[in-house]
Amino acid sequence: MVIISGPSGSGKGTVVKRLDAAKGYARSVSVTTRPPREGEEEGRDYFFTTPEGFIQMRQNGELLEHALFVGHNYGTPRKYVEQQIADGKVVVLEIEINGALQVKGKFPDAVLIFLMPPTMGELSRRLNARATEDAVTIDARLKKASEEVPLISAYDYLVINDEVECAVAMIDAVVNAERLRPRRCQAQINQFFI
Ligand code: 5GP
Repeated sequence: MVIISGPSGSGKGTVVKRLDAAKGYARSVSVTTRPPREGEEEGRDYFFTTPEGFIQMRQNGELLEHALFVGHNYGTPRKYVEQQIADGKVVVLEIEINGALQVKGKFPDAVLIFLMPPTMGELSRRLNARATEDAVTIDARLKKASEEVPLISAYDYLVINDEVECAVAMIDAVVNAERLRPRRCQAQINQFFI
């Protein structure tokens, strides 16, 4: 499992969508109570639900992790993640820090990658250029970013997203290196003795 976190506007969505399914990546789609942004699609970007629907999913144990972020609930549906792992896929979760730490607690083998833009000024520029949120929400998201960045040391890797293609290549490199850790290669080790 690969978890990608980073400030809102760091380009996580764009980077994660570029990870190639042909290389075994499977992107998890989260549930949220946030209203859809223009252009977002149910089931592709998120599963949009009501606060009541979210509570119900949580109570039914359908969420692997969940968190509150700037006034809205977000959570990872458990079933899809478990199915993809069983199929040998590299499941990618694009989630904020509290959720990432919950997953790391349950699955210590998960790889945590923090993605961030080169500077706070660039982050502000991207959020304003995206123009999907009002000024108050952008301010709340920038404030949240300044709280998140000091927590990077909880992550395994830091990727600066200056150029999307470079960030995608760096994540690919991390995943390929992680595949070579002896603890993930038990099948090949056993094969050696046949
Ligand atoms: P946005 O509203 O910009 O789509 O997402 C806001 C924040 O929530 C982002 O940091 C995003 O990574 C995070 N997020 C999205 N889905 C989930 C989820 O399922 N769980 C958690 N913990 N955070 C999520």
